[in-house]
Amino acid sequence: MAPYRNLEEYNIEITNEVKDHFSKIMDDIGEDVTREGLVKTPERAAKAMLFLTQGYKQDAEEILKGAMFAEDYDDMVIIKDIELYSLCEHHMLPFFGKAHVAYIPNGHIVGLSKIPRVVDVFARRLQVQERLTHDILECINKTLKPKGVAVVIEAAHMCMMMRGVQKQNSVTTTSGFRGQFEKIETRNEFLKLVSADLS
Ligand SMILES: [Zn+2]
Repeated sequence: MAPYRNLEEYNIEITNEVKDHFSKIMDDIGEDVTREGLVKTPERAAKAMLFLTQGYKQDAEEILKGAMFAEDYDDMVIIKDIELYSLCEHHMLPFFGKAHVAYIPNGHIVGLSKIPRVVDVFARRLQVQERLTHDILECINKTLKPKGVAVVIEAAHMCMMMRGVQKQNSVTTTSGFRGQFEKIETRNEFLKLVSADLS
């Protein structure tokens, strides 16, 4: 047996249903779904869609609770430049960018890799950037009960770039702050650290 195998499991019934829908859409837009290059496309598209929306069946609070550790550390913890890929709920087109998350512990810290996982759980659904920001913020606030939590998301939206207003370089920034980050000095310290280029 291989030392490591990355297993992907798809529900066969749901995959087949979504596959049939994609096949119908391709036919409706004028494609010949029987031509060679497209034979497996409906299935691939179905699997891609199920992968990109897997967050519906995942529990972000459980992910955090599974890696909380008692610790006296009470300075700011920042995880910046978390890659983010989501789908806008209005067009089902991607929006993507970076999330920056910070919290000030209140007796507990959390395994650092769990914060990007929480971002993914909420990003892998149909979303709007504003709600995504608050989903991440409230999940950390509720589960970790920190002294403060901050989330900033910068993202480009394909629905703006490829269609509609066709603005190629506009980036949307959303932010949310709770607890000590509602104080202007703390918030500014966080924003300064997030925008600093450490490389
Ligand atoms: Zn959109």
